[in-house]
Amino acid sequence: MTDLAYGSIGEMRIYPLYCGGDMTDWAVFDPFDPRAGQKVFNPYFVYVITHPEGNVLFDSGAHPTLRTDPHSRLGATADSFQVVMTEEDWLVPRLASIGMSTSDISHVVQSHLHFDHAGGLEWLTHAKVYVQRDELAFARNPPRYQREIFVQKDLNHPIDWIELDGEFDLFGDGLLRIFPTPGHTKGHQSLLVHLRSRPVFLLGDAAYLVSKMRERLVPAVAWSPDAFMSTWDLVEEIERSQNALLVATHELDYETSVPMAPARWYA
Ligand SMILES: [Zn+2]
Repeated sequence: MTDLAYGSIGEMRIYPLYCGGDMTDWAVFDPFDPRAGQKVFNPYFVYVITHPEGNVLFDSGAHPTLRTDPHSRLGATADSFQVVMTEEDWLVPRLASIGMSTSDISHVVQSHLHFDHAGGLEWLTHAKVYVQRDELAFARNPPRYQREIFVQKDLNHPIDWIELDGEFDLFGDGLLRIFPTPGHTKGHQSLLVHLRSRPVFLLGDAAYLVSKMRERLVPAVAWSPDAFMSTWDLVEEIERSQNALLVATHELDYETSVPMAPARWYA
């Protein structure tokens, strides 16, 4: 590790930016949950990581048109995921809340490309966008059972894709490490961020809820249950060996468990 990288550890922060959410059936989180058939509020988040070599965005959130005209992007699926967003609940105003604009973001790591994670790419065509090669292919030609939750309009921009085949150390200093975590989708990936206090593992949708992961209960939106099992073994191994804090994007108790920007952050 270089002196620069070592010296920078104290500077790095993760700003979790809340971006609205949707009313989703409990069955999405676990088809066998006794609350299946009831709706629950499922939050959306993006995360800004400040690194000396550039500000990194982990996921880009839902497109703002989901607030005003969800059917234009999701079709009939808009009725199953009832989006709840205010004018402030998307990438641009949330970046402004921490004094940033999209031009301050140089690198984007996309966990995967579902509509609630990839809708901000339209504003990030100047940035390098890191995605697993398998994810981009999966998103461009989704299987029937996930077709409605990939929105091709999110991807059809002149995006500077960096297609990865496996693990990747973003700046070569060990501080931001990408790990493939397939299961939810074919090319899902998660980001391990080495902050001064402790590593934080941004899971994306590698698990919807850590509590369900602990019990190895597979959510309804799954490419491969077998891949989920291997991914969850890896996530828990990294948690143990690195003392990493696990942060799932859609954790339902976010109001108490997530230090939300601009007032709070991970450091
Ligand atoms: Zn997803």
